[in-house]
Amino acid sequence: MAHFYQRSWLLGALSGAISVAVLGGAALCGMRWWWQPSTGAVVPDPVFIPAAQLSPDELSSCARGLGLNPELAALADPTNFGERQRRDWRGRPLPHQPSLIVLHETVMDQASTLNLFRTPHPADADQVSYHLVIGPNGDRHRVVPDANRAYGAGQSAFGDFTLQAKPSSRGSVNNIALHVSLVTPADGRGADTSDGHSGYTPEQYRALASQVLLWQHRYGIPMSRVTSHAAIDRSHSRYDPRSFRWDRFDQAYAKAVVSCGASPPGRTHWR
Ligand SMILES: [Zn+2]
Repeated sequence: MAHFYQRSWLLGALSGAISVAVLGGAALCGMRWWWQPSTGAVVPDPVFIPAAQLSPDELSSCARGLGLNPELAALADPTNFGERQRRDWRGRPLPHQPSLIVLHETVMDQASTLNLFRTPHPADADQVSYHLVIGPNGDRHRVVPDANRAYGAGQSAFGDFTLQAKPSSRGSVNNIALHVSLVTPADGRGADTSDGHSGYTPEQYRALASQVLLWQHRYGIPMSRVTSHAAIDRSHSRYDPRSFRWDRFDQAYAKAVVSCGASPPGRTHWR
């Protein structure tokens, strides 16, 4: 452990004010640390710049300005989500605060998706969930509370960052992720989608951009940590959300920032 902190200090000294704040605060937070699985070291992230966080009142004001309908309750069966783990099997602290937003698509229709999450899945391999599902009309279905760990990306890494909570794990970002999934259009569902996938509705882009903005302001997540399942997947089997248009997201996001009434929360050009 001593070696571990000494290493942090050496690297921290190189990276200036950020690491001073981290070492002074001592709270292990996913926002300001990078875990290096190759060495087992947790080190300060020298480039991390948190987004602006709003007070609860400011967040409420922002949400009103966005004009979102309230979330619809669609809570998953408890077998399909869990606790954000604070320590690994060796007792070492794990980053666990929401600090990465991951976009998905459902591949199934909305009713089948929500039903899948409500169905108990005792076997680890079958467990699956997102925090939110956004339907074609822009409705937001709450599946897993933000405070819990959703099972959205099994084998995954953000760049070279991943977390291994137990020896059998291949590494996943679920412990720090917020997962949001867009309901797939009818022509993109099923096993063979080679002919279709017409993309997502304007209402989905609008609701998604608003939700991303709210999460950024709630947890201080910069745009550089908004990503897709396709980008973080390490099983070489996930490509979602297919047909996603970042330019359409950006347009909706720019409008959401104005409607929210707060300053833009963070870098918008790193992705
Ligand atoms: Zn996915």
